[in-house]
Amino acid sequence: MRFPLLLLACLPLLGQTTRDTRIAQAVKALHPKLVECRRDFHMHPELSNREARTGREIAARLRALKLDEVRYPVALNGVVAILKGKKPGPVVAWRADIDALPINEILDVPYKSKNAGVKHACGHDAHITVGLGIAETLAGMREEIAGTIVFLFQPAEEGPPGDEAGGALLMLKEGAFSNPKPQAIYAFHVSGDFEAGTIAYAAGPFLASADTFSVTFKGKKAHGSTPQLGNDAVVTAAQCIMALQTIHSRRIDTSQPTVLSIGTINGGDRHNIIADTVKVTGTIRTYNEAVRESIRTMMRQTLTGCTSAFGSDFELGWSTNTYPPTINDAKSVAFAVPVLKRVIGQANVLEAKPVMGAEDFSYFLRQAPGAMFWLGVRNEKKGFGAGIHTAEFDIDEDALDIGVRTGSALLLEALETKR
Ligand SMILES: [Zn+2]
Ligand SMILES: [Zn+2]
Repeated sequence: MRFPLLLLACLPLLGQTTRDTRIAQAVKALHPKLVECRRDFHMHPELSNREARTGREIAARLRALKLDEVRYPVALNGVVAILKGKKPGPVVAWRADIDALPINEILDVPYKSKNAGVKHACGHDAHITVGLGIAETLAGMREEIAGTIVFLFQPAEEGPPGDEAGGALLMLKEGAFSNPKPQAIYAFHVSGDFEAGTIAYAAGPFLASADTFSVTFKGKKAHGSTPQLGNDAVVTAAQCIMALQTIHSRRIDTSQPTVLSIGTINGGDRHNIIADTVKVTGTIRTYNEAVRESIRTMMRQTLTGCTSAFGSDFELGWSTNTYPPTINDAKSVAFAVPVLKRVIGQANVLEAKPVMGAEDFSYFLRQAPGAMFWLGVRNEKKGFGAGIHTAEFDIDEDALDIGVRTGSALLLEALETKR
């Protein structure tokens, strides 16, 4: 009697293994198409909010898959696609971002960028491909989908130009999370830090918030030989920049990682004129919303005190293009990790430390619990060793299969798992 009981207990697991095997076989057959797809988007990269061809092509490829609904355009060049399973169940979303970066392609590869000065250097070409690959794989498995899958192909993740609206916020504003409303959301981001064949996770903080600021220091011009007749914006800026660094080192809880970086400084007219204006720009990063708010307050306090010591004035401005911290839902990660381990093997699923980069996927995570994972694309033996946002960045395309296999399994099981 023991044997049949054991067999019964193993049945769900056997079922999953069979499904994993079927998915793996389907993805193996899909591999040439995944490579063709990734290379097509890699050759035609487009900047944030300018992804006209990209969005059109994604919509066309999704329509060819005969999904239940393909909404295009959403948020200028984005696409929302809906796949309904034959079984009842909840709604889970998958997100892929689609824009490229103003970086010149220097690699001499057959799929080199055809748009001068623009390159898919953040791997969003791979994100599009994995998203389309999952849609194609699951479109062939409707019978066993217990609910609805919403695919979000989102433009302008790298930030819309100037003060244009765009990205995840505009997708949400234009109804990405309505009819139907997802109860969970998942995404991958490629990573040059992890080997192709691996996936890395972090529960809780995954990526930081990003806020861009500018400070204009206002003084008074005078001849360089008579500083007492002016008000030197260069000296004020120098002192205030140093004072701003004490926010992190002296005032914020030392257990809270934060960054306050000044990236540019410009001012003055000539070597022998006291400058009346100096403008600096910078970024603040943190994993904690309360800390983020504190830093903003402390910056104003510091600048008020510091400039008043010099009898001068300042203006502090914030970009409207800001990203909250990307905080992965711990329960969603706890659910996903065993699935990932089962599909690609225990040793290939790694724990990652949070990093200070930022993602507007964070806006989706404010609407529904979920998680983003790193999809490893590094393979030095094949010459893929560069990090994202570099001119040398490229990926091991075998990672596309890993993304589609794990993403498909994750979505199917997210629909079947009671939360
Ligand atoms: Zn990026
Ligand atoms: Zn990116």
